[in-house]
Amino acid sequence: MSVTVRRAAILTVGDELLAGRTINTNAAWLGDELGRHGYNVVRAETIPDDEEEIARTICRLADAADLVVVTGGLGPTQDDLTREGLARAAGVALREDRGLLTQIAERTQHRAQERNARMALVPVGGAAFENPVGTAPGLRLTVAGTPVYALPGPPAELRAVFAGLDLGGAPRSRRILRVYGPHEAELAETLGELLARGGEPEMGVTARGSILTVSITGAGADERAAAVRARLGDHVFGEDEDTLPGVVVATLRERGQSVAVAESLTGGAIADAIVSVPGASDVFCGGVVAYTAKAKYDLLGVPQELLDEAGTVDPRVAQAMANGARARFDADIGVATTGVAGPDPHSGRKVGDGYIAIASAAGTRVIERTGAAPRPIVRRRFTLDALWVLCRGA
Ligand code: AMP
Ligand code: MG
Repeated sequence: MSVTVRRAAILTVGDELLAGRTINTNAAWLGDELGRHGYNVVRAETIPDDEEEIARTICRLADAADLVVVTGGLGPTQDDLTREGLARAAGVALREDRGLLTQIAERTQHRAQERNARMALVPVGGAAFENPVGTAPGLRLTVAGTPVYALPGPPAELRAVFAGLDLGGAPRSRRILRVYGPHEAELAETLGELLARGGEPEMGVTARGSILTVSITGAGADERAAAVRARLGDHVFGEDEDTLPGVVVATLRERGQSVAVAESLTGGAIADAIVSVPGASDVFCGGVVAYTAKAKYDLLGVPQELLDEAGTVDPRVAQAMANGARARFDADIGVATTGVAGPDPHSGRKVGDGYIAIASAAGTRVIERTGAAPRPIVRRRFTLDALWVLCRGA
């Protein structure tokens, strides 16, 4: 079965976007939304507030796509020229819409009426859409057979007007899987042909701060998501907007378990991540940052003989720390980290080496970690590893 996906183009208008004064969030937001509505976004361009340029670009994009969405330049000031540019693109005049004029006058409390009246102009043959959260309405006009929508620039207004449009697309199903563990290249190897481009469903992989996101869009998304999950196992920790700490809190809450942390290398980062989740108090008892051997002995009860013999970076020390946190906070689960953050090696260990221990009624497990990296990255990896281990349960 071949599926024809309709093409969309995005045009963002505004000097401030090109000058870098405003970050172009509308283009990103529209790209995502149009994808969800079943469109393939084939172009996104940003141009200055220039009537002729707007007209020319709209004509070109109308040629290249089945739908064009323009944002910005619909306000009442001199530099807002999108409605003129849109009318010019279709070779039509602007007419005043009486109903709109009254509405705008009311909304602006009859201030600066002449200037605001510009927003009541609609290209002949086009239509206006109510803006429920602002004054500038959205516009629709057909240019060379292609529907073109011009929507207000303020992001909240764009969203509100966009929500009221009927874009006629066939909404495509979409699944977003969040993955922790493999690197991008490993993921590509493991998933192999499941990531093939140019087919249906459409596959995408992005990486951010060691978390990979696999997006699956189009017909067969659910089946493909199941296949990806089967290959990656519990490296898939969540979907959509899930975060590792969020899943930790949700999972522990579901199981009715509490957790305490004992952090050396991570210095409180695990506690910070868990506490960043609303409702963390349902599952989080507290934690200890125990950096020196003395602190590990005093605050967590790690045996002095063990510390004397093994030093601070040792799997048995990690276990004793996890057990110490669990006992002292009377928690169901204790988690501990110890290792070499760098840049200098110590305790006879290399940078990036260390241990994550998890203690529960079921016993104690230790995970060994290796791999040199800059200090912030080593610390982040230990933090994420500990959270991931917590997601999977003790
Ligand atoms: P305008 O409709 O061009 O008068 O823009 C009104 C407001 O929306 C200004 O504060 C802009 O900075 C903001 N804005 C316009 N276009 C964008 C965009 N592409 N992304 C984010 N904000 C925008
Ligand atoms: Mg502008």
